[in-house]
Amino acid sequence: MTLFDTIVIGKGLIGAAAFHHLSRQTPNTLLIGPDEPANKMTHDGVFASHYDSGRLAHLHGKSPVWGELFRRSIGRYRELEKQSGIDFYTPVGELYVVDPHVENGYNDPKNIEHSRKHLKAELQSLTHDEQRALIPTLAFPDNSLILWEKTPAGHINPRQMLQAHVKVGQQYGGKVVTDTAVQLKYKGHHLQITTQSGQQFEAQRVLMATGAFTNSYDLLPEPLPLHCKTEIIVLGEVSKAEAERLSTMPIVHYDLDSDTLENIYMIQPVQYPNGRFYIKLGANTVADRFLTTLEEKQAWFQSGHSDEMLEDLKTAVLQLVPGIEVISWHTERCMITRTPNKFPIIKAIIPDKLFVAVGGNGSSASCADALGEMAANLIIHNQWQDSLEESLFQ
Ligand SMILES: Cc1cc2nc3c(=O)[nH]c(=O)nc-3n(C[C@H](O)[C@H](O)[C@H](O)COP(=O)(O)OP(=O)(O)OC[C@H]3O[C@@H](n4cnc5c(N)ncnc54)[C@H](O)[C@@H]3O)c2cc1C
Repeated sequence: MTLFDTIVIGKGLIGAAAFHHLSRQTPNTLLIGPDEPANKMTHDGVFASHYDSGRLAHLHGKSPVWGELFRRSIGRYRELEKQSGIDFYTPVGELYVVDPHVENGYNDPKNIEHSRKHLKAELQSLTHDEQRALIPTLAFPDNSLILWEKTPAGHINPRQMLQAHVKVGQQYGGKVVTDTAVQLKYKGHHLQITTQSGQQFEAQRVLMATGAFTNSYDLLPEPLPLHCKTEIIVLGEVSKAEAERLSTMPIVHYDLDSDTLENIYMIQPVQYPNGRFYIKLGANTVADRFLTTLEEKQAWFQSGHSDEMLEDLKTAVLQLVPGIEVISWHTERCMITRTPNKFPIIKAIIPDKLFVAVGGNGSSASCADALGEMAANLIIHNQWQDSLEESLFQ
């Protein structure tokens, strides 16, 4: 049996990036994870938080730490596209909008100053007239505050970005197995992984990048303090002509004053794997729930009642993009993995053996590259390598 230097469990956004950065330095790396299920309704394994075609990406973060993670990642998108031959990034700029009396990190003057100075984000406050002149397709309440971030802010296709990382990892010699890990135990000085299909693999070290399903199997000695929240998005199908009309629409982050929705995010219509074009809007909603067991999470992804927020989410799209011609609407279900301090956990669980990189906190698609690299460096050097404080990621 091959003894791998490192096995990464979880072919999600952070796991694929870690696989890329590990394989670059130690090619004897294996990535284990299932593909996206063909039929989510009947799938009874694990699910992921990246089954989508659009994720927001920007330099300005809700705090300087997130901003630094975004800066590192966004600066490498083009290189990753080139190396993999897979395109995933569309720079279109971003509008941050906030209603009066709503507090958020994005509009904190000190944070804005930090992003301008240290991340080189081009940020500009806009009046409503300026916003309408610049981006006539979007409308916000007259008393809201508007901040405009120029490119490189934009959106990424998370499925494509994941494939790009996997492909580059394979170019460096890393191997991939499509399966789900169900048990991890010591075998002599090594770790042994058993998968759902009964295969076994051994490694010097293991990294778990298993998202919302981290505590679901017999993999960790103790569960991690992860809080998995349901997330609902609405997709509005538009014609190709309508998608072209809206093709310069920036991404939107809107902190609104509402009883049913908060933290709206929206992406211009993009093409999905079925060939159709959809505008996407998501938010925290009053229907959101925290789920703990494997069965609860599976049931949510399979057939949770996401349509309960359809009307609210649909109304939000119609208000923000007046005149948009939508052919049909439907909701999709996803899950956000939160940690107690709101930063990902990247640390050794068993020193020099078992590591984790989990807890995306709803913001780790765009900076998965930086998080994966951080985890890879921690494993290879067996100590914290990063200029960001280790204590933040514990
Ligand atoms: C609706 C929605 C919108 C979002 N919007 C944004 C955004 O605009 N910008 C942004 O930056 N972030 C966004 N996020 C967050 C982002 O998608 C997540 O932070 C990111 O996907 C987390 O990456 P991950 O690798 O931790 O988890 P995932 O991408 O979920 O990957 C985890 C992987 O682990 C695998 N896995 C689990 N258990 C096992 C096992 N036992 N064996 C093998 N494999 C296993 C799963 O199959 C999965 O592929 C959004 C999330 C949601 C839900």
